Amino acid sequence: MACDVCRNLNCPGVESDVAQSFLIVSLPRCYESCLYVPCYYRNQVISLISLWKDEASEDGFEDEDFDLVFSTTEELSYKIKFTDGNHRSKFHGPGWEKLIRDYDLFYGDIIQLDLQAEDFFFPIDLMLSESRGGYKAFPKPSVDRLKIPAIVTNDLRMKLGYLPLKGSMRLVQIFSSLDFPGTYCIHKDGRMAITGISAFADAARLTVDCVVLIGIQWHTVRGEDSLSLVIIGLYKKTE
Ligand SMILES: [Zn+2]
Repeated sequence: MACDVCRNLNCPGVESDVAQSFLIVSLPRCYESCLYVPCYYRNQVISLISLWKDEASEDGFEDEDFDLVFSTTEELSYKIKFTDGNHRSKFHGPGWEKLIRDYDLFYGDIIQLDLQAEDFFFPIDLMLSESRGGYKAFPKPSVDRLKIPAIVTNDLRMKLGYLPLKGSMRLVQIFSSLDFPGTYCIHKDGRMAITGISAFADAARLTVDCVVLIGIQWHTVRGEDSLSLVIIGLYKKTE
């Protein structure tokens, strides 16, 4: 039975003072648009978020900066809106909808939020429902992202002297003069996420078994600083 207040299945509907380290919820019927916080977790989630808000306000952040981030075990991050109403609170917004699409989630699948989280940042785990096999959920292959290890990002920053946290990037293969637009973003853990890879990989005929030697370069084009990901070598794996 779904709870009349929070719409979640098997919600006992009581607010307890017991602090939990994880929030585990089966996605309810409204999962495509939002997730209501189960009644028994609501106080804990609200107090956690208001604590972060207080800290952020002291640091001079404005109200509109208060997006949460859900970060998956594949290190995909989603900005999530949190709204606290009179009777229920919900996680929602374009980031939530994208999370559902990227992982192809469905009614009854399971999301686990780590409530030991810090600074608006919730690590999450996603599992398919028992009726869909009960396996860990993985992002669909169309999710277009490449991760560069933090050690490479740090090395690049040291060599360049500076490196903005996000910006545009050219994806270049020097041998076939391929040049595609992409973007990059450096996460808190130092890793650089690069988007735009799938169109580039098609054109450069990269396949899952390719071993690719890449370089990241910083250069100036028409007076503007620009970052490039350059494919230096491309090898077919031989077994
Ligand atoms: Zn409830």
